[in-house]
Amino acid sequence: MTARIIDGKAIAAELRGRAADAAHRLARDRSLVPGLAVVLVGSNPASEVYVGSKTRATVGSGMRSFDHRLPETTSEAELTALIGRLNADPVVHGILLQLPLPAHIDAQKVIAAIDPAKDVDGLHPMNTGRLLAGLPAPAPCTPLGCIILAKSIHSALEGLEVVVIGRSNLVGKPLAQLLLAENATVTLAHSKTHDLPAVSRRADLLFAAVGRPEMVRKGWIKPGATVIDVGVNRVVGVGGISRVVGDVAFAEVSEVAGALTPVPGGVGPMTIACLLANTVRAACVLAGLPEPNLTTGDRRRTTGDK
Ligand code: NAP
Repeated sequence: MTARIIDGKAIAAELRGRAADAAHRLARDRSLVPGLAVVLVGSNPASEVYVGSKTRATVGSGMRSFDHRLPETTSEAELTALIGRLNADPVVHGILLQLPLPAHIDAQKVIAAIDPAKDVDGLHPMNTGRLLAGLPAPAPCTPLGCIILAKSIHSALEGLEVVVIGRSNLVGKPLAQLLLAENATVTLAHSKTHDLPAVSRRADLLFAAVGRPEMVRKGWIKPGATVIDVGVNRVVGVGGISRVVGDVAFAEVSEVAGALTPVPGGVGPMTIACLLANTVRAACVLAGLPEPNLTTGDRRRTTGDK
């Protein structure tokens, strides 16, 4: 078997298009231009690249982008004060705090200072609680993107045996909640899970969100399973040239999986597209308008056989 490659770039482009259309309609009909504030503290090179991409995508979708780049020495009090100003600013509908923060800042405290209505990353404790309780809440962008990619292959996730490797607050835990809401049967695996290859082989749908280059091997995959690779790992290859790989050994896993996301070009573009969709949603909720339904990812899209 050769896996179908799930084209995250194309699926993300469609979602970005829907978000842009919704933003244009809001501007035209309601004089409401969704605005996203992105806050970056310090100079982590990967974070700078992510923030640049988010800013370009926001502006490219007809929304306003407000960049706040603060020095590494910024104190927790200064950062919290900025969040307070953004909470109060009526042209800002979404606030994205780029993680990780420098070690001297308590990320949980600062996230908790964000107005939950502007929490487009879905990480505020109130929103994580609402997600857990099955109440409407902004879904964290990467897990939401993962669900949309899975639904491009399985129109319904109900009843599927799903394994998520990784239990971070950012990816694994909220992804498990979104999967439960889809009536999947979910196993959340982590570094203490016994016999991870055997657990993984149970999965009709396997997510890897670990941060370990090519950890998931061919023998971990149930034949025909769908594999979504969240990992982004920079490795140095032959001749000292660095490249980005996922948590899944792509070439060998593609021999046994039914469908597989590439890295790059899989989950990454979806994260940004979901951020735009969440910003439009937040602008509508704050204005008392009905939420547009932008993220029903039930279309089939692959680039065909490898
Ligand atoms: P994280 O906070 O470091 O969490 C990693 C998780 O993997 C933890 O739950 C950990 O288990 C588990 N783990 C570590 N080693 C393991 C092992 N040997 N076997 C099984 N589980 C193991 O990472 P994260 O923030 O969730 O990110 C995970 C990956 O996704 C990273 O590569 C990150 O760069 C990438 N990512 C990509 C996007 C995107 O947009 N594409 C967005 C976010 C993250 P314990 O809990 O037991 O320690």
